[in-house]
Amino acid sequence: MSNRRVRVRFAPSPTGPLHIGGVRTALYNYLFARQHGGDFIVRIEDTDSQRFVPGAEQYIFEALKWCGINANEGVEQGGPHAPYRQSERRDIYLRYALQLVENGNAYYAFDSAQTLDTLRREAEANGSAFAYNYQVRNKLETSLRLSADEVQQRIKRGDNWVIRFKMPENEDVEMDDLIRGHITTNTASLDDKVLYKSADSLPTYHLANIVDDHLMEISHVIRGEEWLPSLPLHYLLYRAFGWTNTQPQFAHLPLLLKPQGQGKLSKRDGDKMGFPVFPLHWKSPEGEEARGYREDGYLPEAFINMLALLGWNPGTEQELFSMDQLIAAFTLDRVGKSGARFNPDKARWFNAQYLHRCTNEQLAPELMAMLASIGVSTTPDRAAKAIGLIKERATLLPDLLPLTERLFVAPSAYDQKSTDKFWKADNVRLLNELKAKFDAETQLIAANIEPKIHEWVKGNQLPMGQIMNTLRLAIIGVSQGPSILDICEFIGKAETLKRIEAALATLGEGRTA
Ligand code: GLU
Repeated sequence: MSNRRVRVRFAPSPTGPLHIGGVRTALYNYLFARQHGGDFIVRIEDTDSQRFVPGAEQYIFEALKWCGINANEGVEQGGPHAPYRQSERRDIYLRYALQLVENGNAYYAFDSAQTLDTLRREAEANGSAFAYNYQVRNKLETSLRLSADEVQQRIKRGDNWVIRFKMPENEDVEMDDLIRGHITTNTASLDDKVLYKSADSLPTYHLANIVDDHLMEISHVIRGEEWLPSLPLHYLLYRAFGWTNTQPQFAHLPLLLKPQGQGKLSKRDGDKMGFPVFPLHWKSPEGEEARGYREDGYLPEAFINMLALLGWNPGTEQELFSMDQLIAAFTLDRVGKSGARFNPDKARWFNAQYLHRCTNEQLAPELMAMLASIGVSTTPDRAAKAIGLIKERATLLPDLLPLTERLFVAPSAYDQKSTDKFWKADNVRLLNELKAKFDAETQLIAANIEPKIHEWVKGNQLPMGQIMNTLRLAIIGVSQGPSILDICEFIGKAETLKRIEAALATLGEGRTA
């Protein structure tokens, strides 16, 4: 790499919630910047007023914060190139657009929406698509055909105009991409993109993006594959401005694909298969909602780890990476060219790994809040203890509540299947014997009573599993769960005896069959 300072940017448009593909783009930019001791900039590209969605920008910032992807320059942080929101930079762009008109790389066009619509429909009727390009630009209402006077008159009297890029007629554009290698595209298939519109005094994405990347001294553009078709235009814009020497290097990231592999991962896939495609919960101004990883109970570290490996591989078997490890290991040349298939099960797997590595004390406040929501208050110490009993069974944070609820609240009903299987006269008789053993202890300590139970079971050749499952059914209402003696210790002797009596009262003496 040249000794140019690494400066990368994440440049989202606030058109809705940030898709996880966008989060991955931000992440790769962040990792690349941090690894090279460079700058990571967040720039908001909000020049398309028609697609602007209130709340989307705030959502983007909050999502990046939740993920731990922190910019050192940007809308929120400020910096030497402020402002970083394009709508606040609108005065900058016109003079650059005009520079291209003056040097012959762009021109004014006055065509009305109606004219363009008619041309589009005519082309469609002939079975083709209308393209605004070298074949038509000299015949339409452009500064290439009209006299300079007429152009000035029209502008003065307030006609709407746009500035279009004058795409070369037949030129091979030679480009390099850090992931895809060398690419050649012929301009004959490209149209004259609009760069600036007088109607709202705003640039389009292409102009604002190139001008800002130049002014903000961006060294590498790392973005989604959907921008690859724009790359020839961007190369030509750099050339037209005379900025080829400082033009950034490009890297286009592969798409995130549906779990089945075909096509881009969409919200519909998530809705159908029950997983989020957005980092945070989103509610649109119209009231439409979408679920988020945060609200579904994923830990940000797990989410980031999962995303990092969607499209990039470390070249080893290692799967678990902290942010610092990712910063050290990430390289663009290990980013794949082909789409990365999203795997919701793998996302859950990652979360389980991170959840199991959290200490019980770290998770205690989460559980206390969930318990509070069902009217149970407990101490951090009790919450941590309860978590210790069930943590290995949890995948997502919300699992903590159903897994521990019975440790705090006695069952009000007993699972039918477990009852049919275990609540039988013989088991119930043995349960009563067991109850007497608990009663004989001054304090119920699992480690103390366990050897005594083993001795009793062994001496009388009793079915240990059946007794324990019957006890579990009496204590927590189902026959599966963590070690039942640990549960009894947790709820204490008095509560254990009370729950056994309640089960006996409700379920009776059991069937003899
Ligand atoms: N505003 C563009 C987007 O929303 C940025 C594309 C780029 O990074 O050049 O994705």
